[in-house]
Amino acid sequence: MRGTRAIIHLDHLTWNIGVVRKIAGSERLICLPVKADAYGHGAVWVAKTALKAGVRYLAVATVHEGKLLRDGGIDAPILLLSIPLPEEIPDVVANGLIPLVTDQEFAAALANAAKAAGRQVQVHLKIDTGMGRVGVSPDKAVEAASFIKSRDFLVYAGTATHLAVSESTAVEDISFTKQQILRFKETVDSIKKAGIDPGIVHSANSGAVILHQDSWFDMIRPGIMIYGYAPVALEAGPLTGNGKEADLRLKPVMELSSRVVFIKKVKKGESISYGRKWTALVDSWIATIPIGYGDGLPRALGGYLSIKIRDNFYPLVGRICMDQCMINLGPETDIKRWDEVTIFGGKSFTAADLAEELGTIPYEITCNINKRVPRVYIK
Ligand SMILES: *Cc1c(COP(=O)(O)O)cnc(C)c1O
Repeated sequence: MRGTRAIIHLDHLTWNIGVVRKIAGSERLICLPVKADAYGHGAVWVAKTALKAGVRYLAVATVHEGKLLRDGGIDAPILLLSIPLPEEIPDVVANGLIPLVTDQEFAAALANAAKAAGRQVQVHLKIDTGMGRVGVSPDKAVEAASFIKSRDFLVYAGTATHLAVSESTAVEDISFTKQQILRFKETVDSIKKAGIDPGIVHSANSGAVILHQDSWFDMIRPGIMIYGYAPVALEAGPLTGNGKEADLRLKPVMELSSRVVFIKKVKKGESISYGRKWTALVDSWIATIPIGYGDGLPRALGGYLSIKIRDNFYPLVGRICMDQCMINLGPETDIKRWDEVTIFGGKSFTAADLAEELGTIPYEITCNINKRVPRVYIK
């Protein structure tokens, strides 16, 4: 196996699920989004570990992601969060996925495919209460629910919405989230009043698990916090729930590591990498690390990133290449060829720290670590 690898700490995943259960109550259903290969961590391994730790539902974005879980031997209920094309609908049915239905055209196509396959399909109705992405508007929800109810091969099993600013502690964002939750509650009530059981009611992503207890309903859908990053500034602490700030000690699940593959001494005035953006001011030891943007390490990190070796950090110098990058070990060094290095996670910076440097979110950092980087699973 190559030196660059993503170590996936499944024990941390289990720990983080414990944190979530402590906050939201261990009897509440948890749906873990494992879309984008479990935010880059490896969907089948993550799913199996999570199901053992008490997670009951999984969620994917694409039909193919659902199929990969089924092929991996997972028979837990799987929500399909995004809208498939009409030609993918037979595979939704064949893989027993539970689509979030957004409109009657979609529901009718599902009912036809279910009938053709001779099997019932569970669906959840998705209400758009302010995310503006997918979903039926609240005023059309009862009509959509009745339509689903009226179809022989559809089983109306749940009702969902998604929150747009749940992780924010800004006053106007808190009030927008409260408004979304209220709209959702009213919509669910109108479905009940029409004599229809809304099934499993759910809305909370990680931000809402931490900040909005009134959004928890029957099931929560936290993703990023189970992968080890609080989307809410930690000093804010949870505003509601059984959680205390101390309970939010989430542990990053992914650790990106590599090895030193080459060391050389460069003379004052010599430059490093494409574009000759860095020049040695004094004679220095330079190490080459076999990771680059072709592995998903953002090229924009050149100039910001420091890589940890044993107890010290060494700055990246020059541009990040497709497959390699260089670090400055200084004028004297005890670092040896083949030494282990940590790019993020473990005892180094977290993916969230790197994300902050880049003005992005940890989701993007871990998702982008691609297939060329082997995953090593630690139990
Ligand atoms: C991705 C996703 C989640 C999880 O969001 P986090 O911010 O990772 O907790 C929940 N619900 C839906 C619909 C999603 O797409």
